[in-house]
Amino acid sequence: MAVAGCAGLVCGLSHRLTVIARRGCVVVRVDLTEPYAIRQAREAVRDSLRSHGEECVLLHMYHVNEVQDVVPRCPACYDDVYKQGERYDCPRCYGTTFDGGVARVHRAWALFTDAQDVETFGKRGLWHPIASSVQTEPFPDLWQRDYVVRVARWSPPRPHPASARG
Ligand SMILES: [Zn+2]
Repeated sequence: MAVAGCAGLVCGLSHRLTVIARRGCVVVRVDLTEPYAIRQAREAVRDSLRSHGEECVLLHMYHVNEVQDVVPRCPACYDDVYKQGERYDCPRCYGTTFDGGVARVHRAWALFTDAQDVETFGKRGLWHPIASSVQTEPFPDLWQRDYVVRVARWSPPRPHPASARG
C-alpha cells in the first residue's frame, strides 16, 4: 500500500499511525496532518518573525541539481572542455557557472541570532568574523551557497533596500 505523505520530514509535524486488526488482516491507517494545520503553523511562525525579526532579501542561486539542462552556462568563465568554471568570483555568474547566477530573489522575514563582536588577527591580516544563524520563512527553500542579505535601511516611499550588509 502506497501512502502519500511527508512523514513529518517536510512539514515538521508528526503524524499518527493507527493499526487496526480485522479478521486476520492488518490495516494501517495514516492520519496525515491536515493542510489547514500546516498553514496555521506557518502563519504563526511568520507572525512571530514579523514581531521579533527583520525583513531581509533572500537570493536563491542557480544550482546544478535544479537547472543543469535548462539554464545556459556562463560564457565568461565556464570551460566546455573541462566542464567547470575557471573563476569562483566571476562577476557574471557569481561562481555558479550558470549565466546570471541568481535564480530568484525573495523578500522575507527572518530572525538573526546575536553574535559576539570579535576581531581576529591571522596570516592575511585583521578581519571581523561574524558567525550568526538565521531562522526564516519556509519558502523559498534555501540551499548551501544561497545568500541572506540583511537590509540595514529600507527606503520609505516604496520599500526597497537603501543599504545592505552581510
Ligand atoms: Zn561566470
